[in-house]
Formats: sequence, structure tokens, C-alpha cells
Amino acid sequence: MLKGSPGLIDLLDRPLRDLRISVTDRCNFRCTYCMPREVFGADHVFLRSDEVLTHDEIARLATIFVSLGVHKVRITGGEPLARPGVEGLVGALAGIEGIDDLALTTNGARLARKAELLREHGLHRLTVSLDSLDQAVFSAINDVGFPVGRVLEGIKRAERAGFESIKINMVVRRGLNDHDVVPMAKYFRGSGHVVRFIEYMDVGATNGWKREDVVPSEEILRALDAVYRLVPVDSPHQGEVARRYRYADGAGEIGVISSITQPFCGDCSRARIAANGVLYTCLFSSSGLDLRSLVRSGASDAELAATIRSVWAARADRFSEQRSAADPTRRRVEMSVIGG
Ligand code: SF4
Repeated sequence: MLKGSPGLIDLLDRPLRDLRISVTDRCNFRCTYCMPREVFGADHVFLRSDEVLTHDEIARLATIFVSLGVHKVRITGGEPLARPGVEGLVGALAGIEGIDDLALTTNGARLARKAELLREHGLHRLTVSLDSLDQAVFSAINDVGFPVGRVLEGIKRAERAGFESIKINMVVRRGLNDHDVVPMAKYFRGSGHVVRFIEYMDVGATNGWKREDVVPSEEILRALDAVYRLVPVDSPHQGEVARRYRYADGAGEIGVISSITQPFCGDCSRARIAANGVLYTCLFSSSGLDLRSLVRSGASDAELAATIRSVWAARADRFSEQRSAADPTRRRVEMSVIGG
């Protein structure tokens, strides 16, 4: 049994605390800011099943990361609920001693069917990506015409299954869904769920990101505060990505995630494993380390731990703080591969 290695920090004194695991590069949506159809069309080559980490490989790697300081694990994708038997993986991860926060991010399309199973297998928290309540806008964004009502039904079923304070992530784009910010807040006020308004990010190299399409969080907060007075809330957790605000009238909370206008790299404690087993140390990485081949070539737990430790110890990523100086020719990994 590997002993925890206290104090594993990177070159910017940031501890390794959070692991995000992408369990598939596939998704049933084609969100324009993540998997634009013109790139991820019918001829796009997704990972073959033998190229994707197995549940056992994921659980083994997660156990090693826990021994190195990780205690928060988030399951991402592509769309994790598109992976067959994902609840089994949830069960395996929930059984790992040291993981005290196990979460999953989904587009909600299959949530109505999976919510109870995920809860029964030990999932702690849920995040649902939902970019508009307006069907026409939602369809324009997910680009598959998926009914918003089914995502809302999935959230209802998750509530009934026992998930509280579900996070609702809305990526806000100017001229597309920025007018839906207040209606989204209004819909979830008093529900106990927390809408997080996310600044549109230049993740990957295919979403055609332009700075002028970004709606700064300050602008979003002003629009909300004009209707529902907001009060800032201090965050108890180091490394939390969202800035939190509560409604002065007690109707709950919202959050903003401001990677563009107010980067939070200073205490970023997140590592990411893609579905093909590549370890990335930043959401905006261009390259990573292939853990899958090490796992499949018989590396011991100690060897894997040493490899991960050396990668983290050499980490100096802070892309969002250096965005303007970024090399435009550097091809960043796609969001659907690295996971949010
Ligand atoms: S840009 Fe990279 S280093 Fe900065 S917060 Fe995001 S993942 Fe962390």
C-alpha cells in the first residue's frame, strides 16, 4: 500500500488535490463551443474501445493519485453518461479510501435514466451543463435539437434520487445566450441548486473562440444584481473555481467562473486524465504524458506514482494568466478529450 506523500507541490507551490477523469471522448451533443459539428462530424474518428482506459485501470490510477494527495475526483467526458456501465465505475471510485468528494459533470440527456443508479453507486455531487431554457437557443448550442425539457426532467429525477445543490453550468456567449442569464437564474432561484455562469473559453482549437464573444463575469453580475440583489460569499475551499454570491433575499446562490477576465491559476490544484490515459496538468495543455502505455506495459504502482509525482513537481502551468502571450500555433487539446 502506497503511503500518502504529503506536500506534493508544483513549481508554483500548488498542491495536487483534484483529479478530473474523462471517461469517454464521445458525446450525444455537438455543442458549438466544445464539439462543433463541422469538426466532430460523421467522419470524426473517436477512440476505439481498446484505446479507452478500463474501469479497473481508472480505479487503479485514481488510487495512486489519492496516495499523492488527491481527495476530490470529478468524472467528465465527452459525455460520461454515454459510457456504458458508468455507474459501475462510480461504485469503484466511491470505494476508494481518501476520496471524500466524488462528482460528475453531465449534459443531462441521460440523467433521468441514470440518476438513481449513480446515487446508489455512491456519487456525491452532480453538475449539469445547461446553456439556455429557450428551446431554440438550446438547440442552436447543442446542435442536435435536444429538448431542454428532458434535461430539466433529469434534474428533477436527480433531486428525487437525493442529489442536493446540483450545480448548473451555463457557458455564456455574447449574442447567443447572454439574454438568458436572468431567466436561468430566475428558474433555479429557491430550488437549492446553484447556477454557475461560465465565461466562454478558448479551450482546444476548433470552437472559433473570439474575445468579443466573451461576456465578462462582472457584466453578468451587474445584470443579475439589477434584478436580484447579490451578496458575495467567501469560499471555504482553496482552489475553488467559482466565485460565489448569495441572493440577499435568501433564495439561494449563484456562481461565476471567470477564466478569461479573472484567472484563478494561482491555486489551481487540478490534474486531468483523458479517456485514452494521457495525463494533462492544465485545461489548455497541448501535450501530456501517456499513463495508459505505462499501465499496460506492467509498471508497478510505485513506478506510476513516481512518474506522476515528477510530472506534478515540474508543473508550472498558468495558461489563463498568460493567455495574451500564448503561442497561437500551439494546438491545445480539445475539451471533449481532456474533459472540462
Ligand atoms: S488555465 Fe490551467 S493552470 Fe490555470 S486554472 Fe485553468 S487548468 Fe489551472
